[in-house]
Amino acid sequence: MEYLTTIGLEVHVQLRTASKMFCSCPHRYGAPPNSQTCPVCLGYPGVLPVPNRQAIEWTMLTGLMLGCRIARYSKFDRKSYFYPDMPKNYQISQYDLPLCEGGYVEVDLENGDTKKVGITRIHLEEDVAKSTHHSTTSAIDFNRAGTPLMEIVTEPDIAGPEEAYAFLTSLKQILTFGGVSDCNMEQGNIRCDANISIRPVGQDGLGVKTEIKNMNTFSGAQRALAYEVERQKEILNSGGRIEQETRRWDDVSGTTELMRSKEDAHDYRYFPDPDLMPMVVDEAWISRLTAEMPELPRTRKARFERQYGISPYDAGVLTADPELALFYEAAAAGSADAKAAANLVSNLLLHALAEAGMEIGSSPVRPEHITSLVNLVAEGTISSQIAKDVFAVVFETGRGPEEIVRERGLVQVQDTDQIRTWVRSVIEENPGPAADFRAGREKAIGRLVGAVMKASRGKANPQLVNEVLREELTRGGV
Ligand SMILES: [Zn+2]
Repeated sequence: MEYLTTIGLEVHVQLRTASKMFCSCPHRYGAPPNSQTCPVCLGYPGVLPVPNRQAIEWTMLTGLMLGCRIARYSKFDRKSYFYPDMPKNYQISQYDLPLCEGGYVEVDLENGDTKKVGITRIHLEEDVAKSTHHSTTSAIDFNRAGTPLMEIVTEPDIAGPEEAYAFLTSLKQILTFGGVSDCNMEQGNIRCDANISIRPVGQDGLGVKTEIKNMNTFSGAQRALAYEVERQKEILNSGGRIEQETRRWDDVSGTTELMRSKEDAHDYRYFPDPDLMPMVVDEAWISRLTAEMPELPRTRKARFERQYGISPYDAGVLTADPELALFYEAAAAGSADAKAAANLVSNLLLHALAEAGMEIGSSPVRPEHITSLVNLVAEGTISSQIAKDVFAVVFETGRGPEEIVRERGLVQVQDTDQIRTWVRSVIEENPGPAADFRAGREKAIGRLVGAVMKASRGKANPQLVNEVLREELTRGGV
């Protein structure tokens, strides 16, 4: 039996605000447990929440980046629930009037097509505390309680685990470009839940869905969804029925297990939070945010191809991360050859950084180093081979390329007389290839060029070597 898979995702994104969602406690990762708390985020009775304007603004900005409609009027609601990690036993969230609705994320599919995955809504809520379970005790850290959490809910538009992975990657890229979240997965900045169902090809209505929770990495989400597709197929193939339930992904065992049977919205008894005023957004606020909207990854990629004449592949690599894109633009700005700059960054630099386990932000090579390396090659001062060696020294020492070239005497030899001396001795030492060339075998010159370059320790200008070699060989030798 052939099945179709339908997936909708709920992505929770921690906003990178300086303070929490409804109190002024700092929002900083890695502080000692329970050191960033106050009566509001500890859920004491009688305290009053005050919304974080920056969090609201970044949620709206995200909505604009994803092409959503921004609500002119929205509100916060209480979602009632027994939360072991939320002592007031309700979470402030948004129910029927979220900040953003509609919109989409464009996703590149494996076959080269692109697809728009619809966004149902984006709402803002507060995160809960973090529990850690030990063998006989449980510990709770309230530093995370009350930090701003943006929930992005997709339409059931995703057709499989790989597509879910591609969606998450594109979404993360947009959020990073927008500067609204650090999107650091180890720090739990971006987490997702999924609704997934399968149905036999030809069946109109969707199958019964299950909800999968606790997927903390994108690859984990892909594996969890692949596992769940197989689990549902097995049940249907053996004549069973899928139960609507919530299942937890266990990344270590690579399986999902039953958490609880599914609750409905009315179980949460949502109602407007009486402590918080509705939010009214005016046109001026939206126009200001629209004007401040950053260039999105796909737009920037297309511009890089056009403006710098680089390949779609290189443009994709260079726009994968906003910091890297800025780095490249700074390097290309003053350089004589934007394509050569792209090569240096996307090949040499990214490779060296990966080997050293470093990020672009801590790169010892600065954009101006790339510019001067490109220009040294373009003006013929050093060969592109020598440029690679110089790059390695810059990476190791953080010193400027010009200084290194001068100090190590790496300047390319342009002096024809010097080159002619090397050429003559190479022809003398390699009578075979010389005779071959004279007999019309054009390719034989390659070996001679190589030998001259070696004799010059890579410093001879290859163009000149080629010219002088041809002169000397056609002249009948010495
Ligand atoms: Zn607080």
